[in-house]
Amino acid sequence: MAAALAGPAVPARAADPLDNDPSFYAAAGAFANGQYEVAIERLANLLSRYPRNARLQMMLADAYEHAGRPSVARKLYQAALTGGLDKRSADIAAEAVTRLARQAAPPAAGSEPAGEDLYALTPQQTVRMSVVYDQEAQRKTEHFEITTWNPMLSDVLAKRAEAIMEQVRRTVLGGQLYPHRIELVVYSDRNAFLAASQSPHWSGGSFTFRLNADGSARRLIQLYQVDDEHRFRGQLLSRELPHELAHVMLREYFGEQPCPLWLDEGLACSAEVDHGQALAGRMVELLDAEKQLPLADMIDQINPRVEQGNRSFYVQATSLTRFLRSLLTDAQMKELLEQLKEGQKPSVALGRLLMLDNQPGWQVQMERQWFAWARKGQESSDGRPEDSP
Ligand SMILES: [Zn+2]
Repeated sequence: MAAALAGPAVPARAADPLDNDPSFYAAAGAFANGQYEVAIERLANLLSRYPRNARLQMMLADAYEHAGRPSVARKLYQAALTGGLDKRSADIAAEAVTRLARQAAPPAAGSEPAGEDLYALTPQQTVRMSVVYDQEAQRKTEHFEITTWNPMLSDVLAKRAEAIMEQVRRTVLGGQLYPHRIELVVYSDRNAFLAASQSPHWSGGSFTFRLNADGSARRLIQLYQVDDEHRFRGQLLSRELPHELAHVMLREYFGEQPCPLWLDEGLACSAEVDHGQALAGRMVELLDAEKQLPLADMIDQINPRVEQGNRSFYVQATSLTRFLRSLLTDAQMKELLEQLKEGQKPSVALGRLLMLDNQPGWQVQMERQWFAWARKGQESSDGRPEDSP
């Protein structure tokens, strides 16, 4: 914008990189035309490039509110309020937070359980959800477009997937916003799932994250409903959905930069309810059999070749991730992800974060600590036997 040459002096706004970014004008154009979903997609992409830009947060919040998704809108306004808003924008954001909070419906009596019960199903539900119907049952929530072939399953997912996502967002992304919508398709059985997802035969779930030419993205999670004996697979809620959600969120967070495979799988397995801890507990078996990989061979391998269904890799990746998580504060964990995203070598980032980088041989010492921690039974492992991830 051209500066005013005459008239009252207006304090200059600090330079905002958005003013020179054509994608910002494309996003604003979509918004002005009432294409809110397109605007959301474009603004969210911009926000991943300028994560602390309060003006962007405000505009994205506005688009979400117009698109009928008030709870993301409210979180974004709240985030913008902690940034450097001018007085007028801060008033608008504060007013919006209050208004949207008032709109948020109080939880209805008899609604679906939360917390630990998020994954609990009654025997009746389990039986009814083992039926596969001819017709698709589709539901839409704030972050999901759900398709299954059982209306009760679609209802259960519609009621619980958001809360499951919220837990994953906290554990994996350290609470960073995830303002995107994911297609969630639960196929009838293994064969239908394998045919649609092209996954390896041992897989229980898969995810796709693909950027389109216009800057929008396709986010897809594919799971399946019944096992080979036609029983409903409750683990799709407690294990596979959180696992694949973690992958999608990490993939999106890292963008072009690959996330080290051990951390990607370690965080995804840790997101699984109960299973993550049990899996990490099996590190002791690897140590007893002397089949563990040395820390130094593991940590800087970004994308090692891992044989299909290699359980030892998942065990070790999950154990290492949980061990590091026990050493790092939330803020340090965020910082670690940030540095890896910028392409820093994992060992260098970690050495700096823990201020060990000028101590020779710190990796050997850390490895000793890690193995001792695994032998001690980590937090309070229940040591339950589990099958492959
Ligand atoms: Zn995985």
